[in-house]
Amino acid sequence: MTHRILILGGTTEARQLAGKLAVRAAVTLSLAGRTESPVAQGVPVRSGGFGGAEGLAAYLREASTDLLIDATHPYAARISANAAQAARLTGVPILALRRPGWKPVEGDCWTLVDTTGDAVRALGPAPRRAFLALGRQEVAAFEAAPRHHYLIRSVDPVEPKLAVPDATYLLARGPFGEAEERVLLERHRIDVVVSKNSGGAATYGKIAAARALGIDVVMVRRPDLPDVPSAETVDELAAMVDHFVEPAAERGV
Ligand code: NAP
Repeated sequence: MTHRILILGGTTEARQLAGKLAVRAAVTLSLAGRTESPVAQGVPVRSGGFGGAEGLAAYLREASTDLLIDATHPYAARISANAAQAARLTGVPILALRRPGWKPVEGDCWTLVDTTGDAVRALGPAPRRAFLALGRQEVAAFEAAPRHHYLIRSVDPVEPKLAVPDATYLLARGPFGEAEERVLLERHRIDVVVSKNSGGAATYGKIAAARALGIDVVMVRRPDLPDVPSAETVDELAAMVDHFVEPAAERGV
């Protein structure tokens, strides 16, 4: 019997996991649909919101989904909560890929804040040159502090542009290595980096570069996520799925 797996994605790990699982199950990857030209995912993709937990539950029933995997971004708290709720409503088992966050190391100068609004306030009263390595949905909050210079990097253009006098926009898609991040921070004379604690290697370069240059980092803490069975890496999660899709006899148990 072919198992049907729905992966809630939008992350590199979700794409990697989908590729791994596609050889042993019918995998569909779900994207929020906000990125204008997402990278090819290699498996069937559906795009756009489901309409809350109930909408996701209805989808799971209609598609006869056997397993739901939440492999969304660690800051995508609403879809993760919806996923846990939809799993409860339908009885469909759920697993989550929870990438561990970064931990400060010697030489890091982090200010931890809970929200993007707190990050704006943490920049302080004096004008600064801030690199906003945040999603385009969050940067609008920085209009509240127009005295700073902002360097804003995003995958898709920030529209509308911020109503601040001094902002530079960069379009780029990671991964970003430490050396190139260091060049960027120096070229733009950045004195503070505002970041989410995304974890993983793909976007750690700016954190390492800030440390090397003695630059402050305002780090927005991760939101609370529902407690569901989870793994930290693609391989670990794929192994958990193996136990789910292969009958014990086939595994020689
Ligand atoms: P969110 O706030 O958790 O989700 C908002 C709504 O978007 C959900 O309720 C759902 O709509 C829809 N949605 C989100 N992910 C979906 C998916 N994989 N498939 C189908 N629908 C999905 O998440 P977000 O708005 O995507 O992002 C919140 C934060 O995470 C931001 O800081 C963003 O920059 C960051 N982030 C997210 C992702 C990601 O994987 N989504 C990737 C990179 C960064 P319905 O309720 O209608 O189903």
